[in-house]
Amino acid sequence: MENISVNLNNRQSHIYVGECLQNLNKYIERRNTFIITDKNLDSLYRARFPECPVYIIEPGEKSKNLNVVADICRWLLENGADRKSFITGIGGGVVCDLAGFVASIYMRGIKFGFVATSLLAQVDAGIGGKNGVNLDGYKNIIGTFTQPEFVICDVDLLISLPDNEYVNGMAEVIKHSLIKDYDQFVHLEKSSIQILAKERNEMEFLVNRSARIKSEIVEMDELEQGERRKLNLGHTLGHAVEKVTGMPHGESVSVGLAFAAKLSVEKGLLKEQERTRILNLLQAYDLPVEINADPGAVFDALIMDKKKEAGSVHFILMKGIGDVIVEQIDIDELKNFTLNGN
Ligand code: NAD
Ligand code: ZN
Repeated sequence: MENISVNLNNRQSHIYVGECLQNLNKYIERRNTFIITDKNLDSLYRARFPECPVYIIEPGEKSKNLNVVADICRWLLENGADRKSFITGIGGGVVCDLAGFVASIYMRGIKFGFVATSLLAQVDAGIGGKNGVNLDGYKNIIGTFTQPEFVICDVDLLISLPDNEYVNGMAEVIKHSLIKDYDQFVHLEKSSIQILAKERNEMEFLVNRSARIKSEIVEMDELEQGERRKLNLGHTLGHAVEKVTGMPHGESVSVGLAFAAKLSVEKGLLKEQERTRILNLLQAYDLPVEINADPGAVFDALIMDKKKEAGSVHFILMKGIGDVIVEQIDIDELKNFTLNGN
């Protein structure tokens, strides 16, 4: 088992990669813990949960709303949760975002931890302290930055994760390697068969490495004033693609990564052969690198995105594999490129 500690100001958060759900009771006090999970995890793994009160949400993005937050808060009140209580979210990114948000506002904030069960939650959503819910079609528009006490990444749980969800998480794993880990990129190139076959050693290795990258970036810039923006690689266009096509997040990010690579070549930052390697890697993991959507609609969605800043957007470009920079790009320049490129 690997213990990654995330040091922020004067507190620490711990990520345990390779730890298992059955050992959760080592990290909590059973008598004051409240568990939040979703229906799928409850039916698959309830026997491994510690004996604590459990709130079960419907699986999926539709549960990330203020009504569900209010329902959970009511349930906590009815069950006597107080300021000393502890919340544990057992699930994917949806459960983590909801459980973290509820914990950060219930009685002005109580402590919490996660057992991250999807690949995306283990390498991304569970780490970094962002939480929140959606409102009126705006994603994650209400939320806080509050760090969990611990994140348990039980890679054995990934066996039951549906293949499409696993591949979604792989888009973020590839993104992390492109941001700052060339060696991991090479490893992903060499080991796609074993990784797609969910070999345990491979999963533990890649979750460990990917979770470390996210943690390091969060340590440098918890509140996303600079360095953390790099994690948006592929996401500026990816979010727009997701909105217009309804494609899953990971697939949309994959298209966004391919787009960022193309723009980086266009700007003389990335070599054409590096772009080819990136496209090949995404495709090796069954991720798309282009879409059949109206570029105008994608562009409109892009400028609606919350990251727009008067006439320009922060865009993450690649200077090489494992090396990125944040650039302020003019909306018009992006518009011309979106409509002509890809
Ligand atoms: P999810 O939580 O909806 O999980 C995907 C599906 O897989 C669900 O049906 C879930 O029940 C199922 N599942 C999860 N683990 C399983 C397992 N071990 N076995 C079988 N089924 C399992 O989605 P996700 O992809 O994990 O997370 C997406 C969410 O994460 C989005 O809401 C996104 O906004 C959020 N997110 C947050 C951050 C952050 O920093 N807070 C970062 C990235 C994404
Ligand atoms: Zn993402």
